[in-house]
Amino acid sequence: MTKKASSPSLEKLGLHSSLDCVLHLPIRYEDETKLSTIGQAVGTFGGLTFQVQGVVIKQEVLFRPRRQLLVVIRDEHGDELFLRWLNFYPSQQKQMAVGVNLRVRGEIRDGFYGPEMVHPGVKAVSPDAPLPTTLTPVYSTVAGVGQHVIRQAISKAFKDDELQSHLKDLLPREVMTSTFVGLSIPSLWDALNTLHQPGKSDDLAAIQDRHHPAWRRVQIEELLAQQLSLLQAREKRLARQAVRMSQQAIKGGVLENFLKQLPFQLTNAQQQSWLGILKDLGESYPMNRLLQGDVGSGKTVVATLAALHCIDHGYQAAIMAPTEILAEQHYRKLKNWLEPLGVKIAWLTGSLKAKEKREAQELISNGQAQLVIGTHALIQEGVEFARLGFAVIDEQHRFGVKQRLRLQQKIDDVEVDCHQLMMSATPIPRTLAMTFYADLEVSVINELPPGRTPIVTKLVKNERRQELVLGLVSELNKGRQVYWVCPLIEESEVLQLKTAVETHAALQEALPGVSIGLVHGRLKGAEKNAVMQAFAAGDIQVLVATTVIEVGVDVPNASLMIIEHAERFGYSQLHQLRGRVGRGSAESVCILLYGPELSMAAKERLQTLKETQDGFVIAERDLALRGPGELLGSKQSGDAMLRFIDLQKESWLIEKTQELAKQLLISHPDIAQEHLLRWLGNRAEYLKA
Ligand code: ADP
Ligand code: MG
Repeated sequence: MTKKASSPSLEKLGLHSSLDCVLHLPIRYEDETKLSTIGQAVGTFGGLTFQVQGVVIKQEVLFRPRRQLLVVIRDEHGDELFLRWLNFYPSQQKQMAVGVNLRVRGEIRDGFYGPEMVHPGVKAVSPDAPLPTTLTPVYSTVAGVGQHVIRQAISKAFKDDELQSHLKDLLPREVMTSTFVGLSIPSLWDALNTLHQPGKSDDLAAIQDRHHPAWRRVQIEELLAQQLSLLQAREKRLARQAVRMSQQAIKGGVLENFLKQLPFQLTNAQQQSWLGILKDLGESYPMNRLLQGDVGSGKTVVATLAALHCIDHGYQAAIMAPTEILAEQHYRKLKNWLEPLGVKIAWLTGSLKAKEKREAQELISNGQAQLVIGTHALIQEGVEFARLGFAVIDEQHRFGVKQRLRLQQKIDDVEVDCHQLMMSATPIPRTLAMTFYADLEVSVINELPPGRTPIVTKLVKNERRQELVLGLVSELNKGRQVYWVCPLIEESEVLQLKTAVETHAALQEALPGVSIGLVHGRLKGAEKNAVMQAFAAGDIQVLVATTVIEVGVDVPNASLMIIEHAERFGYSQLHQLRGRVGRGSAESVCILLYGPELSMAAKERLQTLKETQDGFVIAERDLALRGPGELLGSKQSGDAMLRFIDLQKESWLIEKTQELAKQLLISHPDIAQEHLLRWLGNRAEYLKA
């Protein structure tokens, strides 16, 4: 361990030791090495950032068009520049009193009064104060922790005597040079020094763009640790035991019977995915497979086939879903399909009465239940499977990292491992799959069942929502059903609920005689289920809902979805929501209502959704926008994510590093171990989830 870097503000940033500090790398740099005259800066066409200095000759708070602070500086040549702040503190007014010499940095633009800088960076210094000789690093931080605090902590950390030896290069030079041919990569120690304090002569553009050899060093190191841990997880998995099943459906078993009476034919893609799973189930080690397929592509049937195959071998199968609504839907559907075939199903969620729960647990532990369906209640304390052979995790990205870890532990506890199938409708772009799922087989269902018509998506201004009600009535007259999704209000669940209740009331008033239901997160499980069932049965014609219906809900007769304030939702949420319609043969429409305050990003998002229904395109956009953390559903484990690399741009580096990881495990296993420890320490566990 290197020295503790204890201070509450550093702790807030997750910087616990000298090592953490020096690995907290700049997110960007500022160039404060040059000083221009105001004349030079103003004379150059816009878009560039300048640093100039001058004495404050005027300071004024204006109230029109809104409250703002105006400061005027004049340099030694007599040129003047306006500085403007729309938010400011009294301390800033004090710092920029008339007569003070200011060094300011920002973009010059044409303002109302003449050339100006809005919200420039400002320092009060004596006119002859020396300029920095290198780029100034800027670090990510949290409210209340200033840049200078971080900079100080880092330069102090570099003085920790133990640090340099702790950071000695572990990777043999010859391995590095033979893998990354043509790159001359500095030692880790030198790289970190360069990145925190670039020298005057360094290629500053390359440092800012993160393709400088110093960046390459840390990118490779971090990526390597992550790849090593995945490879190790894989090795461990291959060494474990799972139920080895036959490569063909068992004659006269439930699988065979199920296939015989299935009312439709599997699509080609479903068939291929099933064969991949069947092959895995025939191995002696546990399967770890992701079944990926866009909303509505029919993943459930494929999972069901695998479950039945497992049951035919005398083992239990489990299906776990992230919400009660979804679990309940699976339960109903599978009960319909399978009980006539004699399969015994148990149902377990958090909202069951204590007695029902005990009964379900009993059936699970004495082995009578062949198939168990539920929410994460399945992995809670007190649930002991008699002989679990196969587990399906539906919409796996919706489960938190903790829950996935828990499941893993539950599985690790027993002697015979169970095979695992994860399912997700959020397509994972190739680079992400390569980096994060190195220990995962992937099947893709890339076609929808036949007979579906594409969903037409329309963008409509909120003011025109009254007109929508007409379209809605015409849809109802055709015997179709409608979802009305209420706006997401992140700050307040109460407010969100209020809006949903109000919308429900308003629609009831506007549409007398129409049966309108309401479903939201505050309803009890049983109430929620009752509403969903009534909607599925067609007794409810219009369902007003919050995002609880986002994942998996399957009511093919619903053909119109209206999403209010669509601009507040993210890419994948909108894609998921929209996937609730277009599930039958009727032409479906999704209307994205948007409010008056539409940011550029939101505009682009809505436009993308209007133009494409392709989950992969949407996921790529999402990745570009939000980074991998949220896509993988592991927001909580942000620190396990790769921090230094842009996965979209650097897939070649990922490939090379993967090679390196494999080679290292074979030729230098001890180094691999040490490397893992340095970079991941106790975070290694998280990468497995
Ligand atoms: P998802 O992949 O989104 O979980 P589901 O498994 O819920 O999709 O399937 C969507 C709907 O399509 C269900 O009603 C299901 O019964 C139906 N379905 C699945 N496969 C086929 C198929 N090959 N042909 C026709 N309908 C199918
Ligand atoms: Mg599904």
